[in-house]
Formats: sequence, structure tokens, C-alpha cells
Amino acid sequence: MNGEKIPVGILGATGSVGQKFIELLTEHPWFRIVALAASERSSGKAYGEAASWFQESRLDPSIAAMEVQACEPDLPCRIVFSGLDSSVAGPIETAFAEAGYVVISNSKNHRMDPDVPLLVPEINSNHLELVRTQPYGEGMIITNPNCSTIGMVMALKPLVDAFGVKAVHVVTMQALSGAGYPGVPSLDILDNVIPHIGGEEDKMQTEPLKILGTLEGRAIAGAEMTISAQCNRVAVVHGHLEALSVKLQRPARREAMIEAWNSYRAEPQELGLPLAPEQPIRYFHQEAYPQPKLHRSLERGMAASVGKLQPCPVLDWKFITLSHNTIRGAAGGAVLNAELLVKKGYLTEVAVPAE
Ligand code: NAP
Repeated sequence: MNGEKIPVGILGATGSVGQKFIELLTEHPWFRIVALAASERSSGKAYGEAASWFQESRLDPSIAAMEVQACEPDLPCRIVFSGLDSSVAGPIETAFAEAGYVVISNSKNHRMDPDVPLLVPEINSNHLELVRTQPYGEGMIITNPNCSTIGMVMALKPLVDAFGVKAVHVVTMQALSGAGYPGVPSLDILDNVIPHIGGEEDKMQTEPLKILGTLEGRAIAGAEMTISAQCNRVAVVHGHLEALSVKLQRPARREAMIEAWNSYRAEPQELGLPLAPEQPIRYFHQEAYPQPKLHRSLERGMAASVGKLQPCPVLDWKFITLSHNTIRGAAGGAVLNAELLVKKGYLTEVAVPAE
């Protein structure tokens, strides 16, 4: 243990998720950015020149001046965060893990690998044990879920624990930043809703079963639940809103469901991880809440909002959930994964810096 922050790198640093990593890591109490990497279009340039910075915060001048590097495993750090495009993330992340790096990824490529944790620290922190079964020696790969899966599983987990969940029907209204930068052309999305996001429905129907599954020995036994998802792109910049209907295993009272959400706490809260929301799920009683513009930044964008709980004439109950897609659903979720990994002592020679 010493007072030095832990050096980290970012793969895909110029993109939508990469920029959020930079925002979250620039002021992070444990980590410091020492390497930024992206495609050959960007490498060799100063970051400020290579990236179209579209965050509301100012880009730190010392980050703007850093030279963007190629995504090759010779970066001066042990931990790399990946916001790489999924068309290239698979082999690049594998190469880093094989070279001994700890890869904390947002991309879909390794999420469903049987030995890779698909981690939401509030839900399945014990799935981290899977890294001990990976073939990378000192290296490892940890993933976080798709940005629309995260809000849904955060809202479902307290219900799973208290009442059991048999079936879910979900319709999403997903923000533009979920499509990366520059994303969906303005003439396609202004005055419009696009009822198609490639591969999204499949991810929402499969990822929750792994996340909510049980670690049995060296593998995850998937949760027994049926999920039907329909995904839509809407003209909102950040924040995925989702309308869910659920069939429960045991009868539930409205007040007990709201209490299950509001009182839910887990390991990140107990460990006091820097990016952990104090209250991971908050229920809003106002009838027109939650809304992306008003609630996506709740608890620095790390909490899920829930509202409009009503009896469902088809299944049992229906409600709305909202979460920030590039923070909780991507970079923030990945940084929380790294905090958990470090705090729980999974990395030799890397420890939480002393205050
Ligand atoms: P994005 O804005 O398109 O950024 C993609 C990044 O990948 C850029 O830094 C780009 O670098 C880099 N890249 C592209 N081709 C490359 C290559 N051949 N070699 C090395 N780097 C390359 O995408 P994003 O929205 O940030 O998403 C990044 C990943 O996170 C995707 O896999 C996505 O599915 C996932 N994800 C996104 C969200 C979200 O809300 N946006 C949420 C969860 C997960 P250049 O700038 O140099 O081209």
C-alpha cells in the first residue's frame, strides 16, 4: 500500500464511452490515466486533436496534450479500460489479457464467454471468482452489460430476491449516445423514433440470465426467467428509459415492492467504493417520473430510477426504469468493476492507495 494512484490506460479513448472514462478517471481518487489508445486514424495525434470532445465538462489540458497510442499491449499500466468498437474489441482485448493486462471492457465480445464475469457489482459481485478460471495467467477480462440491460437488471434484482421473477416484457426508449459518436444521422432521428437497434433485443433477453444466475463451482447456472424485449432509438441524448411488465413467483404488495427497491444495498455500498451510489435504486412517486432529462444524473449517473408502478392486466406488475447509458451503462459501471476488483484484492501488486 502506498499513496500512489494506480496507473490505467483507456482503449477506444476517443469514442463516446472512452470520453466518459476520461471524465470519470481524471478526478478519480484511486486511478490515474497514463495511456490513451484508439485506431490508426487517431494514433500519433494529441488527444485534443484526435477526439471530438462532446462532454459537458472541460477536457483537462494535460489529457488533451497526451499522444494517442495504438491499441497494442505495450502500455505502461496493468489495468486497461476498453471502450473499443465491437468490430475490433474481441481480439484486441484477448491480446491484452494474454500479455498480462487486466481488461475491464464495455464491449459485447467477451460478455457471454463462460469464464468471463458479466459484472454488476450490486448484483453479482461473487461472479468475479470466474477470473480464476481464465487462461491468461496474470491477465484477465471482466465485462459489464449492455447499456439497456443494466437499468433492467438493477430494477429486477430486488424483486428477484423478495418475490422471484418468472417473466419480463420490456420496451426500451434508448438515447442517441448509446449509438456511439457521431451516431445516428440527425435526419434519421429528428421528428422520429427508430424501432430497431441491431442485436439489442437478443442482448436484453440473454445477458440478464447470466447476471442474475448463480455461481456453481466454476461456472454460472443461468437464472430461470423468460424475457421478451423490444428496443427503440429515441431523440434523447443520454438516458435509457424502459417500460417493464413482470410476472412474479410470489404475490407482492405495491408497498413491499417499493420498499424492496428503495432499501436495496449491496457490496459496493458496504465497501464504500468511490463511484458506488449511496442508494442504487430510487423509486419516484410522482406520476410522470422518472424522465431522462431530470433523473439520468441521479447519484452522478450511477443510480437507477424507478416509477409508475401499477398492476399489469397481462402479467402481474408494470413500471418504468431509467439509467444513464454512458455512465452506469458503460464507463461508470466499468470503473465500479475495477474498484471492486482492486478493493477485494484480486490483483497482486495493486492496492487501494492510502488516503
Ligand atoms: P464509439 O463512439 O464509436 O467509439 C469507438 C472507439 O473505438 C473509438 O475510440 C475508436 O477510435 C475505437 N476504434 C474503432 N476502430 C478501431 C480499431 N480498428 N482499432 C482500435 N480502436 C478502434 O463507440 P462507443 O459508443 O464509445 O462504444 C464503445 C463500445 O462500448 C462498443 O463496443 C459499444 O457497443 C459499447 N457500449 C457503448 C455504450 C454507449 O452508451 N455508448 C454503452 C455500453 C457499451 P477512433 O476514434 O480512432 O476511430
